[in-house]
Amino acid sequence: MNVCKTCDSAGVPGTGPLPWEIDATTEALIDRVAAGRMLELRGDVPLEDMIPLLESELKYTIVSFVDCLDCERVLFWGLCVRGNPILRHADRSEIEHWRWSTVPPRRRWARK
Ligand SMILES: [Zn+2]
Repeated sequence: MNVCKTCDSAGVPGTGPLPWEIDATTEALIDRVAAGRMLELRGDVPLEDMIPLLESELKYTIVSFVDCLDCERVLFWGLCVRGNPILRHADRSEIEHWRWSTVPPRRRWARK
């Protein structure tokens, strides 16, 4: 398969111990959604809220499934407290089979 300029370029490789830069990669996804190149399918919280929730350490894993409107594949972006972030393509059926768990009330972790 050809490299997709939308989703295959979304991940920003880590310059430290992590495989991906959490802030830059999340920002890249947000930018692509804003540009109409990707679509948020389902996540624990909106992309913009993933990092504040992660930093609160109130939820251990925070994931988001994002549709690439360019190549029609689904991208999985998963953050984990004190763990490695995961960025990979996912099967669309994973979304319904994912073990979604409760998100703590927003007022406990949101920045504003
Ligand atoms: Zn793509």
